[in-house]
Amino acid sequence: MPSIADLHTHSLISDGRLSPRDLVDLAYRNGVRILSLTDHDIVDGLPEAFAAAEEYADMTFIPGIEMSTDVPGNEVHITGHFIDWQDEPFREKLAQLQKSRLGRAEKMVERLKELGRPIEWERVQSFAEGAVGRPHIALALVEAGHVASVNEAFDLYLSRTGPAYVERERLEPEEVVALIRGVGGLATLCHPRELLAAGGLPELLARLKEAGLTGIEVYYQDYFDTEMATFKELADRFGFLPLGGSDYHGLGNPNQREPGNIPLPIGPVNELFKLAEERGS
Ligand code: AMP
Ligand code: FE
Ligand code: FE
Ligand code: ZN
Repeated sequence: MPSIADLHTHSLISDGRLSPRDLVDLAYRNGVRILSLTDHDIVDGLPEAFAAAEEYADMTFIPGIEMSTDVPGNEVHITGHFIDWQDEPFREKLAQLQKSRLGRAEKMVERLKELGRPIEWERVQSFAEGAVGRPHIALALVEAGHVASVNEAFDLYLSRTGPAYVERERLEPEEVVALIRGVGGLATLCHPRELLAAGGLPELLARLKEAGLTGIEVYYQDYFDTEMATFKELADRFGFLPLGGSDYHGLGNPNQREPGNIPLPIGPVNELFKLAEERGS
């Protein structure tokens, strides 16, 4: 069941394939009328996405971001919606994160060389228009013929437990929620499947409730009905809005969903708009 809202998508400004404009056009063609672009740690795609969405009288665009944080043994991604992306201190913080992403990616390329899988740093950079990430390293590995696909690159080298993995600058989940709230945004915990599997999700949710988290992704990409029911129950228990999105990257992963191809109901999205209005975002 497709939704008219999609709160989680990526463009080539981070690790997606489409330009912000092409992403907006594709989402609109798919029936999406409320869209957020949530690139990783970067807001540079928002002006183009805004401009593209403005050409559709019945489309509402929400400025967004997805930020990476770490807890021991796992990554925690948090999206922010209705952020004041022009806030100067916020942009400085993002610039710092970009720098640390670059340094970390260079170290991963170094590791790959030691592992006998050399790739040129220039090739990695050629795939990254904005925020550089592991998917760009994966594309360079595919191009060099070391692996057959992006997925294989993650499976063999780049996943959190992979031999070429390098940690990045650590941000605590609470810090990121505070950053997002500091620029008038509403924060949502992303794709909780791995967090549930690792254990300790209720404890994390309790921490994040305290920190001011607004929502949790319940309707995500390829989640099964049983998983969505579990996350909906957790959302209700902690008083979080049950939100979600396709997390569309357009890189052809087998579990990929098109923009809007998620069963996100409009009720919680309307609640999100109400909260944003109350915050004056
Ligand atoms: P980074 O931001 O550099 O830590 O890279 C994380 C990104 O890599 C995620 O946002 C996904 O887009 C992508 N990713 C993570 N795991 C996988 C995987 N197993 N297969 C393909 N892409 C992945
Ligand atoms: Fe990504
Ligand atoms: Fe994510
Ligand atoms: Zn994402």
